[in-house]
Amino acid sequence: MDQKRELYYGLIRIHVLLHAAREPIFGLEMMEELAHHGYRIGPGTLYPLLHGMEGAGLLKSSSESARGRKRRIYRITPTGRRALNKARAKVDELHRELHEKKPRINLKRSRQAGDASQHA
Ligand SMILES: [Zn+2]
Repeated sequence: MDQKRELYYGLIRIHVLLHAAREPIFGLEMMEELAHHGYRIGPGTLYPLLHGMEGAGLLKSSSESARGRKRRIYRITPTGRRALNKARAKVDELHRELHEKKPRINLKRSRQAGDASQHA
């Protein structure tokens, strides 16, 4: 798996959770939605990802037939909802830091806590 793409897989999983929290989703529809967001992801990548998320207890799938065709529908689980809420807080935090004027590591905070002597 290519490292540059792997960077985005966490974001893609969060998108999937977000949409599954709103309504049941299926693969093809999710691929189109992700393409909207600029993620070009094919079935060979998306289906294993959905399957893995189901294995982790975040989604639950069932087979449905629409007009004679079977497709697999994914719904979010309570575990998935909790994971989505935690991810939301982390993405908010990341978003803030990405848009800070001068991003920096948190030396100042440890000084305020009074343990700066080792860092001098
Ligand atoms: Zn989306």
